[in-house]
Amino acid sequence: SATMAKSKFEYVRNFETDDSCLRNCYIVVRLDGRNFHKFAEHHTFLKPNDGRALGLMTHSARCVMAELEDVVIAYGQSDEFSFVFKKTSTLFKRRASKLMTHVVSQFSSSYVFYWREFFGDQPLLYPPGFDGRVVLYPSNRNLRDYLSWRQADCIFTNLYNTVFWALVQKGGLTSAVSVVLLKGTLAADKNEILFSEFNVNYNNESAVHRKGTILIWERQEETVKKRTKSPREEKETDATVTRSRRRVQEHHCDIIGEQFWQEHPDILEQ
Ligand code: ATP
Ligand code: ATP
Ligand code: MG
Ligand code: MG
Ligand code: MG
Ligand code: MG
Repeated sequence: SATMAKSKFEYVRNFETDDSCLRNCYIVVRLDGRNFHKFAEHHTFLKPNDGRALGLMTHSARCVMAELEDVVIAYGQSDEFSFVFKKTSTLFKRRASKLMTHVVSQFSSSYVFYWREFFGDQPLLYPPGFDGRVVLYPSNRNLRDYLSWRQADCIFTNLYNTVFWALVQKGGLTSAVSVVLLKGTLAADKNEILFSEFNVNYNNESAVHRKGTILIWERQEETVKKRTKSPREEKETDATVTRSRRRVQEHHCDIIGEQFWQEHPDILEQ
């Protein structure tokens, strides 16, 4: 019978491996666009930073946070986003593959679904892909160092890209010549080139580009008008109700130093 057949085959389930994440650790899922160097070219991203693309990345990350409520902080730059699940999360029994695939598929489908809201009539030429990985961090120090590492990458890369594209777009140099010119230069040298050659003060460049995007949950007081009608009264009356709502807030500040963490003590578990 069908039932017998079903039980006969069921042993294959035991081939599944237990990939539940160690308890008491932050679970970080990082995704990254596949071959976005080419994707950016095909979709004529502005260089060094396309605001539409960054906006779409952030909006897709918000969709992930709305679906997976245990994410306490997310950090994004370029074609990547990291999502941090709280230490005590029991979502999907902490199974790494479930957490990762839900994050990445929700993000990918949102990226495609909301494309038009950011790129308007410019068509999406092919379906983009994103890879994902899971990393566990046992301590607040480790987690902060992880996020610092990603932001340091953003800071370093963006300074390089800003000078590189200034040399190409405003300086009229070829990319090959620009690469040679920048080889071995320090941050101070790059700041100096921007200032003396192009009259650009790097510190005045957009914080979104210099620092990346931080998404966290914040409580907000919200007042709403409510029409109420008590059973005894004839007329409806307007009452204002105040309620506190959790909303995802966006920041573009430094997360390497202490200040951000002092201002938001609820993100990390003590
Ligand atoms: P891989 O598949 O290994 O990740 P990749 O081509 O995606 O390869 P990355 O190191 O992830 O390589 O770099 C992403 C690239 O995408 C950047 O180098 C940049 O060229 C491009 N890119 C991503 N976001 C933007 C943006 N907002 N504006 C301009 N270019 C962008
Ligand atoms: P979970 O998130 O745990 O996977 P689920 O609701 O997706 O929850 P599944 O066991 O995966 O549960 O079952 C998928 C359900 O989706 C089916 O039970 C059925 O109701 C519906 N479904 C999927 N494909 C079809 C289809 N082609 N036609 C009609 N119903 C479908
Ligand atoms: Mg990569
Ligand atoms: Mg990539
Ligand atoms: Mg990348
Ligand atoms: Mg299902």
